[in-house]
Amino acid sequence: MNQTKYIFVTGGVTSSLGKGIIAASLAKLLQARGYRTTIQKFDPYINVDPGTLNPYEHGECFVTDDGAETDLDLGHYERFLNVPTSQANNVTTGRVYLSVIEKERRGEFLGKTVQVVPHITNEIKERMQLLGNSGDYDIVITEIGGTVGDIESLPYIESVRQLLWDLGKENAIVVHLTLVPYLAAAGELKTKPTQHSVKTLMESGIQADILVCRTEHELSDELRSKLAQFCNVTRESVIQSIDASTIYEVPNLMLEEGLDKVALKKLNLPKKNTPDLKNWNVFLQHLKNPKHVVNIGLIGKYVELQDSYKSILEAFIHAGAANETKVNVVSVHSEYIDAENVADKLSGLDGILVAPGFGERGIEGKIEAVRYAREKGLPFFGICLGMQMSVIEYSRNVLGLSDANSTEMNEGTAHPVIDLMEEQKTITDKGGTMRLGAWKCDLKEGTLAMKIYNKKQIEERHRHRYEYNGDFFEKLEKAGLKASGINPDTGLVEIVEIENHPFFLGVQYHPEYKSTVANPHPLFVHFVAATVKAKHK
Ligand code: GLN
Repeated sequence: MNQTKYIFVTGGVTSSLGKGIIAASLAKLLQARGYRTTIQKFDPYINVDPGTLNPYEHGECFVTDDGAETDLDLGHYERFLNVPTSQANNVTTGRVYLSVIEKERRGEFLGKTVQVVPHITNEIKERMQLLGNSGDYDIVITEIGGTVGDIESLPYIESVRQLLWDLGKENAIVVHLTLVPYLAAAGELKTKPTQHSVKTLMESGIQADILVCRTEHELSDELRSKLAQFCNVTRESVIQSIDASTIYEVPNLMLEEGLDKVALKKLNLPKKNTPDLKNWNVFLQHLKNPKHVVNIGLIGKYVELQDSYKSILEAFIHAGAANETKVNVVSVHSEYIDAENVADKLSGLDGILVAPGFGERGIEGKIEAVRYAREKGLPFFGICLGMQMSVIEYSRNVLGLSDANSTEMNEGTAHPVIDLMEEQKTITDKGGTMRLGAWKCDLKEGTLAMKIYNKKQIEERHRHRYEYNGDFFEKLEKAGLKASGINPDTGLVEIVEIENHPFFLGVQYHPEYKSTVANPHPLFVHFVAATVKAKHK
């Protein structure tokens, strides 16, 4: 077996420079050249995973097939590469310490003092090579969260330093992403922050091999030479990353800059073929030249922070391109919707998506929005909590069970149409205890769901505790809310829909996690198509 090659991506100067997008773009180019590539992220925070984090803290929690609750950057990796990730692709400090402490409790360190170096760093190094050692990948890209110089990042940087040494020069390299700010008053781009950041990395014993410089303006030849000279990198290793109109443009920009070529050269790998980005560019073509425009309301309570709904927003971009349609996603705060203002709040929208969420805040507004969409024939798509709200709405307003609710919101309701599963009732821990990851679902003949997926069985990713309560199944079916997807093992209802409506679909799972550039999710594609139709009718 050939030696797996490693690329480490670090960041300096500020956070939010888009390390995840650079890592994903580089991976895309290497993949398009024929290399089996994967990306993993190491996050320096102490939570064991981001599952218990409020979306305002860290944006969306991305869920993998194997049920890992992970950083939203893994979503970018999947959307770019169209290859599923897993628990192994995301490691946090909390997870590293947890496993080292568990080993200590089992006596595995044989009486030794357990220390950051070597025990924590060994654990990190082992995990950094886990995917590489599987034999499934030629190249593993590892993104180190945070900014160099942070106290929390130190064990990771030290682990990278050791790995560079262990693996040897041609088997592992470091790509360092920095910011080259533009000072308007001086009319100049400034290299000093990058110089300092490279120096900080050197203090930890790491020499960056490639510099990727985020900038709002083109880097001149002179400036590139200066950066090369002061930062100890070759001239071709200074890569400009100029602001792009969409993240999906970045692989092409990196191709023009030669990021993949210089990485391969440093890793002593052949260039193979020129990257095949044909399908990717067809997608970009459609994205940039839409024939239609629609406004879709995103009804949620975390709307102040766009990252909370990252995968949903990206799924709309994929589905929009598939429909040659620009999808304007209009955020509507569910907390401020009520029966009086709902028509006003949703005016001008061609469809609504009622978002996932937890807790009571904003749910009455979501229920009002579902009611409006159902009654007015406005395309409706409910995801997870959004689906649960559609069941509650139907139970209240069609079945006449006025106090119908989820026991998440009202434990004592006489009509718990959404309820905890038996096995959830004894669980007290919050981390990693929901129904998570991929579950099978059988689709019923003749339903909208079946028409869209065009197959009998699907597998989608879940992240929830509460479920459609089967005790109300007969009544709801009879009244017209049809269960069109059922879990074959548990009998749980996963999809609901109503007939004689332009588009009304609620899903208990999260289809947005599986939408990629290469495979836009069919539910999003058909939902967007329905909004285009609604607009032009
Ligand atoms: N709060 C709901 C549950 O736990 C829905 C979760 C979600 O929307 N992801 O079942």
